[in-house]
Amino acid sequence: MTTTEVAEQLDLGRRSTYERLERLVGHDRLDTKKVGGNGRVWWQPFTDGQALPKGQERDAVDSDLGKVFDRISDGFYALDEELRFRYLNDTAADLFELNEDAIGSDIRTENLTETYENALYESLETQEVVVFEDYYPPWDKWFLNAIYPSESGLSVYSRDITERKRRERELSRYETIVETSPIGITIVDSDGEMQFANDRAEEIYGRSKDRINDLSFDDPEWTEVDVDGEPLPDDEKPFPQIMESGEPVFDHVSGISRPDGERVWISINGAPVYDDHGEIESAVFAIENITERKEREQALRESEARYRSLTNDVLDTSDVGTFILNSDFEVVWINEAIEEFFGLDRETIVGRNKRALIEAEIAGIFEEPERFANRVTATYEDNTYTEEFESHVLGEGSLEERWVNHWSQPIESGLYAGGRIEHYTDITERKERERALEESERRYRTLVKNFPNGAVGLFDDDLQYTAIGGELLDATGVSPEDRIGNSVYDIYPDDIVEEIEPYFEAALEGEANSFEAEYNDQNLFAYTLPLRNDGGEVFAGMLVVQDVTERREYQRKLEESNERLEQFAYSVSHDLQEPLRMVTSYLQLIENRYGDALDEDGEEFVEFAIDGAERMRQMIDGLLEYSRIETRGDPFEPVDLDDVLDDVRDDLQMRIDERNADITTDDLPCVDGDDNQLRQVFQNLLSNAIEYSGDEPPKVDISATRDGDRWSISVQDNGIGIDPDEQERIFEVFQRLHTHEEHSGTGIGLALARRVVERHGGEIWVDSEPGEGSIFSFTLPASQNQDE
Ligand code: ADP
Repeated sequence: MTTTEVAEQLDLGRRSTYERLERLVGHDRLDTKKVGGNGRVWWQPFTDGQALPKGQERDAVDSDLGKVFDRISDGFYALDEELRFRYLNDTAADLFELNEDAIGSDIRTENLTETYENALYESLETQEVVVFEDYYPPWDKWFLNAIYPSESGLSVYSRDITERKRRERELSRYETIVETSPIGITIVDSDGEMQFANDRAEEIYGRSKDRINDLSFDDPEWTEVDVDGEPLPDDEKPFPQIMESGEPVFDHVSGISRPDGERVWISINGAPVYDDHGEIESAVFAIENITERKEREQALRESEARYRSLTNDVLDTSDVGTFILNSDFEVVWINEAIEEFFGLDRETIVGRNKRALIEAEIAGIFEEPERFANRVTATYEDNTYTEEFESHVLGEGSLEERWVNHWSQPIESGLYAGGRIEHYTDITERKERERALEESERRYRTLVKNFPNGAVGLFDDDLQYTAIGGELLDATGVSPEDRIGNSVYDIYPDDIVEEIEPYFEAALEGEANSFEAEYNDQNLFAYTLPLRNDGGEVFAGMLVVQDVTERREYQRKLEESNERLEQFAYSVSHDLQEPLRMVTSYLQLIENRYGDALDEDGEEFVEFAIDGAERMRQMIDGLLEYSRIETRGDPFEPVDLDDVLDDVRDDLQMRIDERNADITTDDLPCVDGDDNQLRQVFQNLLSNAIEYSGDEPPKVDISATRDGDRWSISVQDNGIGIDPDEQERIFEVFQRLHTHEEHSGTGIGLALARRVVERHGGEIWVDSEPGEGSIFSFTLPASQNQDE
């Protein structure tokens, strides 16, 4: 047979078959010869081996040297053709429980099995050697029997093989176990050749048994890698390790690549098998495919890494404090915000059971520790989401007082499935804002409720009143409840809405306005303005309404009466001019025509009369002028007061020189006004300052100071001054503090000045002490067009 044929028959690898055959050749049991280039044939040479027992039997019986057989441990006996014992050795005698006396007795009287008896007949009949195994129940033994026909009958050779049978059975049991094992099993001999691999090993390696057998560990196809995927150095592979150390290897994890390219992770347990000489004969390996486990581990590691990078990147920089708890509610991770929140460091927190941590370190900082602890841990059992809830930190020790918002959620999958994520947010600022808002809202509400002679309303983005009140509502019998919750669109008629809506909207945009409106036969003066929180955001609009019906009525009446007065003053002065002119001209006629006929007294009387008429004319002119200030004024324009003052100084030049007056002046501003009227003001004040200067030469200083959008102009003199009791009166028409003899004048100059200044929206007043000089000041609006 060729090596391959033998290997196939024995179901062994070629190489091990070869080695076994080689050994038989060494024991002279086989011959071999090389044929062709690479082949070899093996055969069993014919020997007397098989016939030997026959010869022995013949020798033994024929020469009656039977005693020789007595010494051999196997049973041996001879039968004649009638199947009667001719000879039996000691062992056979023991077997059949016979002695020498049995010679001549028929073996069939013994309790033979059917197989045994049939074999005896068969051999007698065919004259062939019959070899068979037989189980003998009475003794519970197996025998290997060989029956040899001879000339005189049969020789039977019987060997007790019970022990071998038992071992075989056992072996086959092991074989079954090994073959059906869910664990791959291989045996590698000391040369590194794989002797055996079971089906499971085949499956794991992805190679047929033969291919595994053929595969040497040196084969480049056999790549093993470590857990990082790096090729495994030889001395770290399990087989070389066992050979080197002589010790077993446990759970050696490596990756192998299958021929189909798939990477498989295996865990190997291996142990050396020693031969009788204490040499390692082979190594036995149990191999498990742990690819799935490895992949799961890998996925877990990756998910953990992702988780960590997420938690580190996102959560650590977050203001929201975060705990991650595992399914035992132990803290596995916290971010920096948590350390700050509770004034505890990572080492104190991480690894602790959260319940214990709350009890020992956390709950105590809260105003209501029990409530806090209960709220936090309540959901640990049923693993639900918590509602957010707010807790107050008292702020003792190094902790600041603050408000904390807490909520948590279960972790449903991944590394910490069954655990929780807990969030803590510092809401102190929001709380404070809310409180401030509440306070300011309360203030507004108080104001709203009691607002005098008007009404106040707060409105929201939809122009709905959220609060409204005030005496005006009470007076008109409107209940605030009817208004609150309703919008301006619901409440007011369309024409009013159209008028006021822009102002309401503007208020919500941050713009304040005032306007007048007529509603319910009332004149209302309204302000709309934004209400802002501390952060400057508009949170509502406010409407303030004042009932100005009466004031408007009064104003209207005043205007009417003023108008009538002006009309009256105008017509009086106008109508008086005519008779006055008559008086004057007839007085002059008397003086011219009859002057010589008059005595000294008469001349003087006429002179007084002319003088009086002249003063009366001036007064009437002044009154006329005074009455026309409102009605005959020019529209306001930018006026440069420097120019005005220059004109005035020109007009007064003669008197200035006469009195040797010293006039100094600032740069005067530009104002909006009527330049003729303003000239009159300066003229009157300046001429008064020169007129009422006393004995000293007049010193007059004109200055201007800015006060917001107004200018304050002052004319200061060093004159006689004015008694404080008189300081109001001098601004009235025809009011004078001096007689005509002392100082000439009509008493209308300051009244006129006041009316002009008032027309310009300003005021005029005097600061003075008798003998200390006077300062006349008045305000004027700064020019819109020019700054200075
Ligand atoms: P008059 O034509 O009398 O000057 P005014 O209305 O200009 O009329 O002034 C009223 C009165 O105020 C004057 O009669 C004078 O008594 C007093 N008066 C006005 N200016 C001065 C001043 N600069 N110093 C002192 N008294 C003044």
